[in-house]
Amino acid sequence: MTDDCLFCRIVAGEIPATVVHETDDTLAFRDIDPKAPTHVLVIPRAHHADVAALTAADPALAGKVLAACAAVAEQEGLTGDGYRLIFNTGRFGGQEVFHVHGHVLGGRPLGRMLA
Ligand code: AMP
Repeated sequence: MTDDCLFCRIVAGEIPATVVHETDDTLAFRDIDPKAPTHVLVIPRAHHADVAALTAADPALAGKVLAACAAVAEQEGLTGDGYRLIFNTGRFGGQEVFHVHGHVLGGRPLGRMLA
């Protein structure tokens, strides 16, 4: 738990969130400003700043976060048409909250991001 981390405070129940999936190690909740019909954030309960830090510190937990992302996509009915999984990393990657999180986005065609 990091006192000044928004997502640690959600894990601690200090800030409300619409939780859609949880395990002993992970939590998934709806993004407050959704960019697609389904937009869920998947986090480890433990604080790690970004996906690189998580993978270096605890690769097994990184695998559990990915498994939770897949479970959310299945639960949200996204697997038929597909979905996008994004881990924004660092300033140039557009990361704003420095508690690693996967964005699970779906429910409409999302277009190509890379030419
Ligand atoms: P990122 O830019 O990858 O760090 O994404 C941070 C995401 O957190 C953004 O999509 C925000 O809309 C979302 N967000 C910020 N505050 C909250 C909150 N209290 N509950 C749910 N999602 C949030």
